[in-house]
Amino acid sequence: MAEQTSVTVLGLGFMGTALAEALLKNGHSVTVWNRSPGKAEPLAAKGARPAATAAEAIAASPLVIVCMSVYGNADGVLTGDVLAGRTVVQLTNGTPKQARALAEHVTGSGGRYVDGGIMAVPQMIGGPDALVLYSGDEAAFEENRALLGAFGGARFLGTDPGLAPLFDLALLDAMYGMIAGYFHAVALVRSEKVQVAEFNPMVTAWLTAMMEGFSEYARALDDGDFSTDVSSVATNQVAFPGLMDTSREQGVDPALLAPLRDLLDRAVAEGHGKDGLARLVTLLERPAS
Ligand code: NDP
Repeated sequence: MAEQTSVTVLGLGFMGTALAEALLKNGHSVTVWNRSPGKAEPLAAKGARPAATAAEAIAASPLVIVCMSVYGNADGVLTGDVLAGRTVVQLTNGTPKQARALAEHVTGSGGRYVDGGIMAVPQMIGGPDALVLYSGDEAAFEENRALLGAFGGARFLGTDPGLAPLFDLALLDAMYGMIAGYFHAVALVRSEKVQVAEFNPMVTAWLTAMMEGFSEYARALDDGDFSTDVSSVATNQVAFPGLMDTSREQGVDPALLAPLRDLLDRAVAEGHGKDGLARLVTLLERPAS
């Protein structure tokens, strides 16, 4: 357990409350503030100290954790002289640009800034599967590493404060792509009245096997060598219309597949048919005009 420290949590929605509870469980002295005061009461019953204003809450601790809906919520909160000498850990979901702008504001006010991306739902906070990504002021992170461990695994990505939100959004990006593919596949089998529970073990095993390919994609992209003896762009491009035709024939909207078809078509048109599928990443990096 980390040495007991005074810490402030600003924003007591589902996530902020889970963060404050985890800190209380680890024996820290926790000051809390929320725009709507009612949300501080259950935490006060567990030992937290509610502050009347955000400025009072910030002044109460050297470490200030922020978890609100969007970055803009903190604009009227993280203001003035009160930030001098404090470390702000911003765990609100945002963009790299927002993180860099807030880092500049906090450091310009004499504070230190660490950004974070929470890869967990509130129920996972404090458990073994929660991961929080951090970037920004390395010394400030290291000083508070043990305390931040109350939330789950803590991974520091680098001194650019934009890295934590970038990795957070990249992981969400991969998740949405997977969900989109899964939902489309489910709609296809449901078109023949197949129970989803029956399909799930098969699709899970298939996706798990396909993830083995990630190491090959990494090798191709990191080395810039797209030669393949596994599966070429051309092979996939030729097969892809069959997937779209089947969708239409089964009464399933193929809209989610269309962008991938367009990318495969573009890769072939630009002469990359013999390359492996990792070539598509380089086309994404150079959007079609
Ligand atoms: P909630 O909607 O439960 O809470 C939002 C919080 O933001 C409340 O404390 C709310 O205060 C506060 N807030 C909203 N607008 C303002 C404002 N203008 N000024 C001050 N405070 C404001 O969201 P969560 O707690 O679930 O999420 C918080 C952050 O954590 C988000 O960025 C979210 O993306 C991220 N996150 C959430 C996860 C989840 O599963 N819940 C997972 C990973 C990240 P009030 O009570 O007064 O409305």
